[in-house]
Amino acid sequence: MLTYEEALKKIVDTVETGPVEERPLTHILDHVSASAIKATFDLPRFDNSAMDGYGILSTDTDNASESEPRELALVGTIEAGARELPSIGPGKAVKIFTGARVPPSVTGVVMREYCQEKNGSVLVMQNTAPGANIRRAGEEFKEGEEVLPPGIKVTPPVIGLLASFGHRKFPVYSMPKVSIIGTGNELVEPGQSLDEAQIYDSNTYALAAAIQALGMERPVRVHAGDTKEEIKNALEEALNYSDVIITTGGVSVGDRDLVKEVLESDLSVETIFWRARVKPGKPVYFGKLKMDGKPRYIFGLPGNPVSALVTFHLFVKPALAKFQGLVPETQSKTKAFVQSNRKKKPGRLDFVRGILNHRDDGSLAVSPTAGQDSHMLSGLAKADCLIEFAQDDAEINAGDLVNVQFLNWHELN
Ligand code: AMP
Ligand code: MG
Repeated sequence: MLTYEEALKKIVDTVETGPVEERPLTHILDHVSASAIKATFDLPRFDNSAMDGYGILSTDTDNASESEPRELALVGTIEAGARELPSIGPGKAVKIFTGARVPPSVTGVVMREYCQEKNGSVLVMQNTAPGANIRRAGEEFKEGEEVLPPGIKVTPPVIGLLASFGHRKFPVYSMPKVSIIGTGNELVEPGQSLDEAQIYDSNTYALAAAIQALGMERPVRVHAGDTKEEIKNALEEALNYSDVIITTGGVSVGDRDLVKEVLESDLSVETIFWRARVKPGKPVYFGKLKMDGKPRYIFGLPGNPVSALVTFHLFVKPALAKFQGLVPETQSKTKAFVQSNRKKKPGRLDFVRGILNHRDDGSLAVSPTAGQDSHMLSGLAKADCLIEFAQDDAEINAGDLVNVQFLNWHELN
């Protein structure tokens, strides 16, 4: 059985990064950039004013103050977007607005707050240094310079940068199409009535939401009963239109745990691994199938709702990250002082659902949530992290420093 780290490495080594596509700026949020962003011109494009105020010669304002203002004659106004640029000389000023071009003759801009305008002239009450409040052409980037390297997650400011250089579209890595199959004879769609032996299917809803939370298209959800036929049909259809297929349930060692058998015997999926030394989530399955020259990745997650979501976080997210062109790291981690004692069986890495808190001295403390069994979703719903209790440890004491993974459903790492 693989350790957590070994299983993770198998996933990262197996998954290939998906194709690059040019997409409109309105449709690249949360994607990963596939090219460097280069400055297509100097940024800012031209000298412009950082303030609403008056363009002056700074030599005209030497020693100006509230008690000794300088009076300068106004030669005109320059608004943002104006092409006409009046020039000034000694004793003259031009009214100017934020973002308006600064004429070459102006050596500084005094903020409006330090000026008083009257009858065609302006009283300046502040000594203004050369260059004050002028944003210089190219001060952020010169034409041709690299603004951001490739492989960057596209966030709102990245989209802003692309737009400010005039891009309407940009190459990004495509996101995988995902299908989710819930297996189990006992499962019923929420909204329908239950008999005494049935439960509602919660996994396919939770996992579809987990995909959506990452900015990806909401996946198709499918139900299959515990027969080879139904599981095979659901998988075959999903393999046709998905890059990543996630099943839940039916992957353990019970007589009705048929997912692995169908994948291997009926569909010729190559098993990369089955079972890992983690808790929850030991039965987790990962396989691969090439169809029409394109790889499909199949995750068989355990049925218990906590196990399904925790293994999604631990194993599916890194696969999605690699597919989307991110360098998958292990999930982002910190260290915290655990607040209670705990005994465990050595042999598996325990991921205990926890809540982080800052202590007065700035250090981090972490406490397990109530409801730690793998069928108790409430413990996961309250948690903001997973506390790692090392594979070979048998007990952990209050005050021990432990590794903690942030549980951020909106981020891949
Ligand atoms: P299995 O892995 O199929 O043996 O399922 C383990 C446990 O998870 C059982 O208690 C199942 O009823 C439950 N379970 C399986 N699939 C789901 C699902 N989609 N929603 C909620 N519970 C599930
Ligand atoms: Mg089942």
